[in-house]
Amino acid sequence: MNILLVYAHPEPQSLNGSLKNFVIKHLEGLGHFVQVSDLYAMQWKATLDASDCMARQGIRFDPALDHAFESGTQSADIALEQAKLLWADALILQFPLWWFSMPAILKGWAERVYAYGFAYGVGEHSDVRWGDRYGEGTLAGKRAMLMVTAGGWESHYSPRGINGPIDDLLFPIQHGILHYPGFDVLPPFVLYQTSRIDEAKFARACEALGQRLDDLWITAPIPFRPQNAGDYDIPALTLKADIAPDQQGFALHIGR
Ligand SMILES: Cc1cc2nc3c(=O)[nH]c(=O)nc-3n(C[C@H](O)[C@H](O)[C@H](O)COP(=O)(O)OP(=O)(O)OC[C@H]3O[C@@H](n4cnc5c(N)ncnc54)[C@H](O)[C@@H]3O)c2cc1C
Repeated sequence: MNILLVYAHPEPQSLNGSLKNFVIKHLEGLGHFVQVSDLYAMQWKATLDASDCMARQGIRFDPALDHAFESGTQSADIALEQAKLLWADALILQFPLWWFSMPAILKGWAERVYAYGFAYGVGEHSDVRWGDRYGEGTLAGKRAMLMVTAGGWESHYSPRGINGPIDDLLFPIQHGILHYPGFDVLPPFVLYQTSRIDEAKFARACEALGQRLDDLWITAPIPFRPQNAGDYDIPALTLKADIAPDQQGFALHIGR
């Protein structure tokens, strides 16, 4: 299988750097083909701006409706990342949790690579169908998983933890960035309390991570509710009143 690892850490000798090396070796040992987008090493341009559309000549730049993808006039670095996504059977996004989210360089990767017509604005938009998204779309049929390190303790991110539940913090990435263009999203691999990592803990982390990689194709994805299969009223896109009537928050959008 083909696996794309998009990696966002500025220091090769970091914990994340060691985990990245482990992942590549482990996946290749299983016979998979691995491509790595090492965003800092690539000096990835993080900002989406008018220079991303090569055909633009003095006209107003509309970041949301720019048709550079469809007209083949987008920057070469964006087109290359899109080609990697189309090549991949699975995507892993690896990053340290920074300010409760991904580092800006990785957010910028998503903003630029997820172009109109590629990751959004795909499919029929009508009163009965609201585009191909949330499990449908360009990247449907592929798997994705987050690999995250966090300085905080696991309890800090538990359902009653002060930082908020990790599933909630990662929802905008897992549901909004991965499931939106089609990915089936696997439960994340999160390594907590990173300042306390020593050789023994690192070895245990690699063992657990290795198991997750072994199970990449058989692990059940997070059962996000499909948009166009009847659970939501269209075009309001609210969950039907009789589904999970007592629930609220992000968990509403996860079926059982
Ligand atoms: C801007 C910023 C914002 C942050 N925001 C948050 C936040 O919102 N929530 C939160 O929980 N945390 C936050 N943190 C902490 C951050 O999540 C951690 O610093 C990060 O996850 C640690 O990953 P690292 O790769 O940088 O680790 P490193 O600092 O490189 O390493 C961590 C430990 O692992 C050890 N180690 C590294 N490699 C190995 C190896 N091969 N074998 C054994 N041990 C090894 C190191 O010796 C060190 O003790 C933030 C940090 C920054 C800089």
